[in-house]
Amino acid sequence: MDKLYVPRVVREGRMTLNEYRSVHRWANRDLGEPSKCEDCGTVDAPRYHWANVSGTYREDPDDWRRLCVPCHMSLDRAAHHGVREYCNNGHRMTPDTSYLRPANPRTGQLPRVECRLCSRMSLRAWRKRRSKQ
Ligand SMILES: [Zn+2]
Ligand SMILES: [Zn+2]
Repeated sequence: MDKLYVPRVVREGRMTLNEYRSVHRWANRDLGEPSKCEDCGTVDAPRYHWANVSGTYREDPDDWRRLCVPCHMSLDRAAHHGVREYCNNGHRMTPDTSYLRPANPRTGQLPRVECRLCSRMSLRAWRKRRSKQ
């Protein structure tokens, strides 16, 4: 059997390997096992994964994308769970100070880890601007 790809959410203990396996069994059973990557469009990759978009691993068909393994890896690294240690304004990005912004299918925006401090500050600035009008 192929080695199971274990995402960071499992390694960090937010869910157990058994929970992860059972939600993937659900995905393979209910969503099927199409051989097409929704990201790069390849149809002849040796393996495909169901990738969870929001990182919450809910049994929600909208929250899953079928990806080839390289696309899944780069999603995981670049967007899914975040690689940035500091935000653009230099705040430290930890699980407590950042949040995952879900994908936007309309704009094609992938899920991104955003800084809570910065989003709070821009919300405050926006409110201030609005109250002055
Ligand atoms: Zn791909
Ligand atoms: Zn920030």
